[in-house]
Amino acid sequence: MSVLVWIEQNQNGVVPNSFEVLGKAREIAAALGTQTVAAVLGDNASAAESVRPYGPDVVLAITGPVLANYRLSAYTAALRKAVEAVGATVVLTAATVHGREVAAMLASQLDAGYAPDAIDLRVENGRLVAVRSVYSNNILADVTFNSPVQVVSVRPRSFPMPEPGAPGGEVRTLDPGLSENDVKEKVLEVKSTDTGEISLTDASIIVSGGRGVAQDPAKGFALVAELASVLGAAVGASRAAVDAGYIPYKHQVGQTGKTVKPDLYIAAGISGAIQHLAGMGGSKVIVAINKDPEAPIFEKANYGIVGDLFQVLPALTAEFKKRLGK
Ligand code: FAD
Repeated sequence: MSVLVWIEQNQNGVVPNSFEVLGKAREIAAALGTQTVAAVLGDNASAAESVRPYGPDVVLAITGPVLANYRLSAYTAALRKAVEAVGATVVLTAATVHGREVAAMLASQLDAGYAPDAIDLRVENGRLVAVRSVYSNNILADVTFNSPVQVVSVRPRSFPMPEPGAPGGEVRTLDPGLSENDVKEKVLEVKSTDTGEISLTDASIIVSGGRGVAQDPAKGFALVAELASVLGAAVGASRAAVDAGYIPYKHQVGQTGKTVKPDLYIAAGISGAIQHLAGMGGSKVIVAINKDPEAPIFEKANYGIVGDLFQVLPALTAEFKKRLGK
């Protein structure tokens, strides 16, 4: 038995959400009386050392040229091998774009139960329970499994980032036994789209704009970005703002955009439609700026500012600059 965590990597190294999952995995493994295994996949094992300070019992380095770039069929096959090699009964990934799909495909191949996008995990009577948020945290569903292997993807920022300690755990290598012929997809070119912006899913503060900027969208989103910059925050948006072409889709928060869980979410000119709340309702503190005192977002907000965002945002930026000494 073991709890296996896929340690996802991108062009910047290990995706930090994987460490959040690994931290929780250690708790779950302790409650189940078993080991934590961190699976690092790639064309070399260089990331294995960066995982050891996060305390898994074993780092399983699964390496081979076919794993150089993320490909769904190759990564699923390699993780399947890892599950068999360490007798994993629980498999955890971060619920990133890749983490969700690889977990789903792995679960289907193993005939295992799958709880996607869980926000909490616990062990009850020796069994894993995954908690899923439904309707923007209005319902929390406990999911249990009746399959021998249980697969869960965990929503980013559901658990704190563990503190690294002294490197522990042994590094073991595993040959995935895959050749190019076993892999269904080909990667022709890898282009970095990293613009140095803070990613929405990792951000602890997000400032978002909505259709409320309509009278001057360029200025409105410049004000949103200015406040975000002073706070070290990521910029988000409602779908109405994205659909209107005010800002690219990658900023969209909500049911058909990104699910975020920052410590602070500032929503400017966003009405609070259920589909938007589905993406940010789990934020710790919500501040809403809206000129309509009846806007539904105020029902969800911890703090509400009734006013015109074109006046409120610059005032907030100026005040934060003063207080933060910027
Ligand atoms: P509006 O609802 O038009 O609200 C604008 C707000 O700005 C109003 O409350 C208004 O009072 C306020 N305002 C106007 N001027 C100012 C000003 N100067 N200062 C301050 N406040 C001002 N939406 C998402 O956001 N994300 C999704 O992922 C998403 N997915 C969807 C999926 C489906 C299947 C469907 C059907 C819809 C989805 N939507 C999604 C759309 C959603 O239903 C709403 O239409 C959208 O969230 C509205 O965006 P908004 O709040 O910016 O605009």
